[in-house]
Amino acid sequence: MYYLRDFVTKERVNPTNMVFTGETTPWEVVMDLDEVKSKINLDYFRQSPPNILKYLPLLPIKKQTEFITLRESATPLIKSRKLGRSLGIDLMLKVEGKNPTGSFKDRGTAVEISVAKEMGAKAIILASTGNMAASCACYSAAAGIPCFILVPEGVPPGKLSQVLAFGGHIVQVKGTYNDAADLAYKIAAEMGFYLAGDYAYRLEGAKTAAFEIIDQMLFQVPDYLVVPIGCGTNIGGYYKGFMDYYRLGLIDRLPRIIGVQAKGACAVINSFDEKRNDITPLPSINTLASAIAVANPIDGLKALEAINSTNGYAISVTDNEILAAQHRLAKEEGIFAESSAAATIAGVEKLVAAGKIDAHKKVMCILTGDGLKDPQVVLKAAIKPPTIYPQIADFTNLYSNGFFDGKSMVFVEKSDTLFDKEPSKTDITRELQNLFSATYGEEYIDKIHQSLAKIVQKGKHITISDFQDSIQGVLESPKNNVADVFSVVDFNVSTSKDKRALANVRVNIAGQEYTADSIGTGPVDALIKALTHACRDTLEFKLTEYKVEIRGQGTDANVYVEMKLQQDTKNSIGSGTSPDIVQASIEAFAAAYNAFNHNS
Ligand SMILES: *Cc1c(COP(=O)(O)O)cnc(C)c1O
Repeated sequence: MYYLRDFVTKERVNPTNMVFTGETTPWEVVMDLDEVKSKINLDYFRQSPPNILKYLPLLPIKKQTEFITLRESATPLIKSRKLGRSLGIDLMLKVEGKNPTGSFKDRGTAVEISVAKEMGAKAIILASTGNMAASCACYSAAAGIPCFILVPEGVPPGKLSQVLAFGGHIVQVKGTYNDAADLAYKIAAEMGFYLAGDYAYRLEGAKTAAFEIIDQMLFQVPDYLVVPIGCGTNIGGYYKGFMDYYRLGLIDRLPRIIGVQAKGACAVINSFDEKRNDITPLPSINTLASAIAVANPIDGLKALEAINSTNGYAISVTDNEILAAQHRLAKEEGIFAESSAAATIAGVEKLVAAGKIDAHKKVMCILTGDGLKDPQVVLKAAIKPPTIYPQIADFTNLYSNGFFDGKSMVFVEKSDTLFDKEPSKTDITRELQNLFSATYGEEYIDKIHQSLAKIVQKGKHITISDFQDSIQGVLESPKNNVADVFSVVDFNVSTSKDKRALANVRVNIAGQEYTADSIGTGPVDALIKALTHACRDTLEFKLTEYKVEIRGQGTDANVYVEMKLQQDTKNSIGSGTSPDIVQASIEAFAAAYNAFNHNS
């Protein structure tokens, strides 16, 4: 019914283990389409609704009744409401993030894991840091086969929480992603595990998306199909799927296929631009679109074939273009796609602007993953929401001061220096308008000014992200007609090797000064103990939460501290931001203390 061959030499291969890729070239599955034709009734096939089971005869699955499916496929195809009109094209969006684990990977995984099960694999192994890992752990769980995932050391655990939920075994490897991938290959060969990943069988599953689009469009073919490229397997799958339908006589032409990569990881685009038919691996990559951050695309040649043989294009887009497109897509269409997926929108915008896509053309963007996969990316660009007291005046104040008219996201390099000395109030007003389209009243500008002056006093340049933090800090210290009762007049903290930290503080509470000192296991611990001591006559509280976040990069990055205090049944939260963790803790403490008073 099918055989495997080398994609480059076209020579048949006969694997003796469960590794379905060559050492340097990819392999491919060759289906016997005549046999397929003899098995299916084309008229019936044409009329039955899209569904993964309908496509089984076109897949390398021997025992169809044992296919491991979680009903991947049949994802929404949505006509754009606004973006298409503003671009002057007929834009359609294929929401592949609606697959079981939130990305299109599930289509390929269903086929890979089913093949592994057919072959009696005792385990699945793969190297991945993201969506592939989540998808394989999920289908392995469904198939009842253990799944081992090798990741380079240092991958944020949050990214792998889906894998852990499915009971996948994560092993961290000291080395790069490529080291992990090489090791997975060797383990599979040595131990007889099934090597999952961007190999021959996966592409067969990926191609079902092409079938589905044609079915959903009632056998009309879009003019352009736009796909993000990581390893190139997905775009290769689309090409193969359209070719299968073409050979079966179900369509009479193919869409022109457009591949999009991030500027910081664009090996395929380089080859296309230089009209080369090979892929040069990149020495390093740099993009926040993590699902397409690939230095050496295994299926790069298949991607080039898809683009070149359909007279398509390949284009790269910057991270800020991707983030802006992701936001526009969510805001104007109601679709929250992963940044790697939104790259397609950024690519189309660029091609339309360059006159490479004509007006009124039917353009289909493949939104490969769900935005919830990587919420961190969005938070980086977003302005943190303000905090208010539960009083209507606090809300109407923000509303009438134009707070909600400003931007909620900005797409600029946040680590760029904005001011290298203390800015004037005019500078602040101007940059607020420039960066955030925001105009705030005198009172807010004063407070922002004070907060920026403090950063300069610490000997630090003010970056865009510092600026944003200061604005947020000010918005979070709500306007309130009750004056602050608590302030820290001075403090001193010392630590040294092998000795406990020592802190002393002088505070002012309702006009009266108190001092206290204390030792602690570290500077912040000592400080909080001293503060607690200094406040003992005025406020009896418990510190119930202490959270620290580093905002920015480098040792001079801002530290954001949030504290929650509890007094009887009342809670109070305060936050502070400073390059100095002790200073940030003091601000947070003062804000939380004062909030008790404001609320009572
Ligand atoms: C894997 C992935 C891609 C890249 O697909 P390839 O087949 O590697 O080219 C793009 N977007 C998302 C969301 C992905 O998970």
